[in-house]
Amino acid sequence: MKDQFASDNWAGLAPQALAALLEANGGSHAPAYGDDVWTQRACDAVRRVFDTDCEVYFVFNGTAANALSLAALCRPYEAVVCTPLAHIAADECNAVGFMGQGVSLLTCDDGSDAARRAKLTPAALDAAARRRRDLHAPRARAVSLTQATELGTVYAVEELRALTTAARELKLKVHMDGARFANAVASLGCAPADASWRAGVDVLSFGATKNGAPVGEAVVFFDRGLADGFEWRAKQAGQLASKMRVLTAPWVGLLEGGAWLAHAGHANAMAQRLAAAIDTLPGVHLLHAPQANGVFAELPRPAIEALRAQGWRFHEMLPNGGCRLMCAWDTRPETVDAFAADLAVACRTP
Ligand SMILES: *Cc1c(COP(=O)(O)O)cnc(C)c1O
Repeated sequence: MKDQFASDNWAGLAPQALAALLEANGGSHAPAYGDDVWTQRACDAVRRVFDTDCEVYFVFNGTAANALSLAALCRPYEAVVCTPLAHIAADECNAVGFMGQGVSLLTCDDGSDAARRAKLTPAALDAAARRRRDLHAPRARAVSLTQATELGTVYAVEELRALTTAARELKLKVHMDGARFANAVASLGCAPADASWRAGVDVLSFGATKNGAPVGEAVVFFDRGLADGFEWRAKQAGQLASKMRVLTAPWVGLLEGGAWLAHAGHANAMAQRLAAAIDTLPGVHLLHAPQANGVFAELPRPAIEALRAQGWRFHEMLPNGGCRLMCAWDTRPETVDAFAADLAVACRTP
């Protein structure tokens, strides 16, 4: 199959992740359940990346990272504020409610420009958290921000600060869904700490699967007190890997030499290249300028069908032919150019 734009998790393992995995497999036996040197190194590498002494855990996927960390922040009668497009609301089969034994989601879409870019604003957050304060409705306890967002936009550091300040005033904890945190940091060009704990984030689901790792996402507690009992929570949920080094060695490979940021930067650059190549085609309408590794554009219906018939795979996920074109750590410029050329032909064919 040719390389595709369906999702960044269609790509395989980055060489740095694979090399570390092979190295971890090459030696002798190692202790199970995370008591091994690779897991220690991976936790230390995360602490160095964030320049702080955070608590770090590894689970199998992003759904578990989100649901378990939000369950750690909320009691069963409490709720998490997020956008309707948030992965936790739209794509995780209500794992938050399941892992949180009743925790619910308060989605808010105020119809604003920010909402169209899959972003929360302090005003929308405030309205959602205050909508019901009586004891007959779940009490808002946390907010979940996705960075980069589900529509390929990125919260600026000042936007994050404004949101987390509003959250503190509302007594909400701040969770960040960072399945594409690397792409956001590469886009912002800031220190990872500035886009997370220094901006007021309490806990981060830090993704690597979409950035060249085989499996396993990190749960990073910047507020260490919130991590109390997390290993039991993860174990009970079936999210404690016994052969933990298989999850954590690839993280060492990606983080220690900085490959994680280089890969994310490359994926972002491919999205820029793709957007520039299709922006002026007749009938193509970019929903907004890409800031991370996804391009969101309305394509003419016949063009969507023509591209599919030629074997291209991508998701149509918004009204009016709104398509999502995801670039990955390994997307090649030639693939971008070939897709754009096929789209150009399809747009000109009546
Ligand atoms: C991919 C993704 C996740 C994680 O999904 P899993 O399939 O559970 O690993 C979480 N949040 C966002 C925004 C994502 O795009």
